[in-house]
Amino acid sequence: MSVFNRADQDLPEKEYDFLVVGAGLLGVLCAWHLRRCAPGRSLLLMDQGGLPSEEGATHLSPAVHHHFFAAAGRRQAAAEWGETLRGLAEAGDAEARSAWRPLGYWSNAPEDLALVNDEIFERRTFADLCASHPNAALLFSHPPDAPFALDPRGGYAHSEAVAYYFALATVRAGADLCLNSRAAFDGPAGLRLERLSVNRRMEVFVERRSRVRGRRIVVAAGAWGAGMIEHQLGEAIPGAGRCYQQFPRIGRDPALLQGAEGDLLDLPVVRDGDFVLRPHRDGALLVPPWPPPDPEGYAPTGGRFLGVPVGLRRELLARLAARMDDFPALSWPTLNLGKTPAALRGAWDAFPASGFPEWHRAGDHPVWWLAGGPQGFALGPACAQSLAEHLAL
Ligand SMILES: Cc1cc2nc3c(=O)[nH]c(=O)nc-3n(C[C@H](O)[C@H](O)[C@H](O)COP(=O)(O)OP(=O)(O)OC[C@H]3O[C@@H](n4cnc5c(N)ncnc54)[C@H](O)[C@@H]3O)c2cc1C
Repeated sequence: MSVFNRADQDLPEKEYDFLVVGAGLLGVLCAWHLRRCAPGRSLLLMDQGGLPSEEGATHLSPAVHHHFFAAAGRRQAAAEWGETLRGLAEAGDAEARSAWRPLGYWSNAPEDLALVNDEIFERRTFADLCASHPNAALLFSHPPDAPFALDPRGGYAHSEAVAYYFALATVRAGADLCLNSRAAFDGPAGLRLERLSVNRRMEVFVERRSRVRGRRIVVAAGAWGAGMIEHQLGEAIPGAGRCYQQFPRIGRDPALLQGAEGDLLDLPVVRDGDFVLRPHRDGALLVPPWPPPDPEGYAPTGGRFLGVPVGLRRELLARLAARMDDFPALSWPTLNLGKTPAALRGAWDAFPASGFPEWHRAGDHPVWWLAGGPQGFALGPACAQSLAEHLAL
């Protein structure tokens, strides 16, 4: 096992059984499962940034986890991943223990309410939510008998901590790891690696180069993966797009109660129509619905909310304005919509054709694309596992 993460180190230059491009959640989990399924075969996991990269979706993902999927197979996949998260929180080291918050997931979305007959969901009302979490009465306005469905095993994770934990486990299990190195195809069975560094003027430059060969290459490069395969190998991934997702934050508000854990807002994860609200330190994150995949060349552009320039994508502002009556916090001064897109946290992610995590082979090449999208945290790990099991055969 070797770790190539310092500027003064040589880069790997050999043939591996598996090359995994991208050390976000999906690349890391695919690599981890490959080590488990094929321990005798060599593997290099690499990323253009750190672990995980600040550029990737995993770094910023609010990582909401639930089981409200109409297909039983997806519910099962989410349940297995939830068990893994629970195990991490109970048995892992300090970082892993903080990686999972099983707060429950309440939803009034019709498709989730329709699943209440399933044994894992419970029928509740808005009054029940307010009784257990008084902050809900301030944040949402619904009649007391408004129906809610509760997924008691839902919650949210610290997706970076989870990815970091599995990356270390992968290295401990014998994989090589190469960070701060950008990969590009060098023919269909090899990659050119460029070690990126920063000079005194904070300009990124290429410090070293090398070539590695791989019998099987997994491209888990998030929003960049499909373009990498299409532009460098000439193979299109059917229906693959990408999307820029953002999340406004409701800051600390004196009216809101803090939870028992000191600085954490006392609230479970709540889906209200097409928005999800998740505690975040002493405030909350508002996760808007995902817009459709962005057109080629799209750059995030803010709009005007109540006449003021903000950083939230214009596509999402109209939805926000339409929800102001049943979402009082949308008019609180603590709502942070940023002044520009750069001032509001957000990230690019791949958007697979189905809207759920997918993997595909790139034509006849020994190259596989793996991507998450809107449900990438909840269902991506199962998809990464299925690809690893397929490749290990
Ligand atoms: C804002 C946002 C909110 C989300 N919320 C949720 C949620 O609540 N629930 C849920 O289930 N899912 C959610 N998701 C989705 C989920 O978080 C992602 O699908 C998942 O984290 C994606 O992981 P990934 O490994 O595929 O991609 P990434 O984390 O983007 O990782 C890709 C990696 O590839 C690297 N890379 C790219 N190109 C190269 C190259 N040429 N050479 C080397 N490295 C390269 C990047 O540096 C990056 O680290 C959200 C996503 C976003 C963006």
